[in-house]
Amino acid sequence: MTPSLPVLSSLDDVLARYWGYSTFRPHQREVMEAILQGRDSLLVLPTGGGKSLCFQAPAMLRPGLAVVVSPLISLMKDQVDGLNASGVAAACYNSALSDDAKREVLRNVRERRIRLLYVAPERLVGDGGERFVRTLAETGVSFLAVDEAHCISQWGHDFRPEYRRLGQLRGALPGLSMHAFTATATGRVRDDIVSQLGLQSALEVVGSFDRPNLLYRVLARDQLKKQLLDVLARHGGEAGIVYCTSRREVDALAAWLVQEGRRAVPYHAGLTTEQRQRHQDAFLKEQADIVVATVAFGMGIHRSNVRFVVHAGAPQSLEHYQQESGRAGRDGLEAECVLITSAADFLKWRVMLERNGELTDASQGLLRDMERYASTTRCRHRHLVQYFGEVYGRDECGACDVCLGELEIVDDGITVARKVLSCVARVEQRFGAAHVTTVLRGQVSEAVTSRGHERLSTFGLLAQTPVTEIRGYLDQLTAHGLLRQSPGEYPVLLLTPAGRLLMRDPASQPELHLYRQRRPTRGSAPRRSQVETESWAGVDRPLFEQLREVRRSIARTRGVPPYVIFHDTTLREMARLRPTTPAALREIYGVGQRKAEDVGPPFLEAIREAL
Ligand code: ADP
Ligand code: ZN
Repeated sequence: MTPSLPVLSSLDDVLARYWGYSTFRPHQREVMEAILQGRDSLLVLPTGGGKSLCFQAPAMLRPGLAVVVSPLISLMKDQVDGLNASGVAAACYNSALSDDAKREVLRNVRERRIRLLYVAPERLVGDGGERFVRTLAETGVSFLAVDEAHCISQWGHDFRPEYRRLGQLRGALPGLSMHAFTATATGRVRDDIVSQLGLQSALEVVGSFDRPNLLYRVLARDQLKKQLLDVLARHGGEAGIVYCTSRREVDALAAWLVQEGRRAVPYHAGLTTEQRQRHQDAFLKEQADIVVATVAFGMGIHRSNVRFVVHAGAPQSLEHYQQESGRAGRDGLEAECVLITSAADFLKWRVMLERNGELTDASQGLLRDMERYASTTRCRHRHLVQYFGEVYGRDECGACDVCLGELEIVDDGITVARKVLSCVARVEQRFGAAHVTTVLRGQVSEAVTSRGHERLSTFGLLAQTPVTEIRGYLDQLTAHGLLRQSPGEYPVLLLTPAGRLLMRDPASQPELHLYRQRRPTRGSAPRRSQVETESWAGVDRPLFEQLREVRRSIARTRGVPPYVIFHDTTLREMARLRPTTPAALREIYGVGQRKAEDVGPPFLEAIREAL
């Protein structure tokens, strides 16, 4: 061992010295210890759960080189930048490197100057992989960490054939312990990982999938732009992702946001690789605040301070929703996930799946589960957690629109439901949600008068009710099976047998409640989750913003994303405790030794000036 790699005695030391952390997240210690003992392991934790640290920290204690398999070059670079900034000797070896750079990495490997080496799977098991692996074997590999291990499985969402061959490495590297990490929790994927890698009496840990720092909201889609502005108003200068279901909508919304003076960029598969790269970079480097994107944007987005994720349109399953919304709040601080949806989204999916021949029982079931989430009027954290097979231990989450009291039960919902249903009947089940809403509100339009609908007995029955509310009722009645939409390009609302029965017999649905967004009262502040209130407690906000600026400028000079310098958690704690000496700075959560020395002074200076 060269003296440049100090031998520390414990995981606690390693965490404090390099990362400035004094505690472990759930399951981290357990898995780190398995690695230290050379026992195979599989860790399933949601995005942001802290998986990376589980293999990074033990790499500092076990002799030899830790090899990390990672599917994306951008992901590798990100992690290596972060490790180097913390004083950890890490490198990556991939096709993006020049020949010179590759040679230098190999030399460092041979001279045992690095602790962690990130590689793509094809480096190890593809053409020429044997020679590379031999080099590694000669220097001594301490263990193999397989990141994003669901890529092994065809049942996962990012299948990568080379991942399946990683098990072969056991031949070339006998006795090697393997450790797999993923955020995909399904049993099938898990079993696949264990069998493909040939994990032996492995420690299997599946953590909780609840993300208590995320605040979930669902809004009935109506005037999307206004709804978006409401969300943005809660997040001035903060980062967010807006997911749309079509490229056209991405382009239109991004252009509009720019007009509104927001730093927004579009991202979808129709842009050139170069454009996509530029926009992603701008977002990662905090030169853009908002990415408007299709789901093509996601994997490899490690910006940790994404404070909101809006879905303009429902995704096709809760698995997708969990994944996409999960990109918010990786740093553990408060973040908001808003689903803006209407029944039309689900219809669109059905039409699309059918066109592609993918409308199976399974895909329909997934859609229905997504629909159920959108129309539930119970705690959304509970709903998500239970969907993923966990028991939710709390009564209230304090971080969803339902628990925050943003929904209210409509007085006499049965009467409202019957008004809506009879309007659908009066327009002879030949019109869609928009027209039915117009008639119920009693609005005169060409479409209404040309059909004489202003003379219907249901015209104006809900004249005082806002459009969103009526749209919400239509969705809820659909979810309750009282209405359905015809398939096809121009869906019309149809009554189901249960819907017809309710028109005749108000007692036929004793359990039915309709909900609506609580109408804002004048001067009422937006509701905040407990996590949000707590994480801002005592924080000098202007100072926090100044520290962000300091961070941005350091990051710019060094050509790394700001979160590689410090996470927001750390900046908030600085803006709370206002350390003015290097010793005090070292006490701040997330300030390790190297960073304190390396980038600490400008932060201390900014804090002193602000006093
Ligand atoms: P994952 O790989 O599971 O998505 P990451 O490894 O990226 O999650 O970790 C998410 C965030 O949590 C990172 O910002 C990381 O620095 C932070 N983190 C991880 N472990 C700890 C810990 N023990 N204490 C504080 N922060 C942690
Ligand atoms: Zn809740």
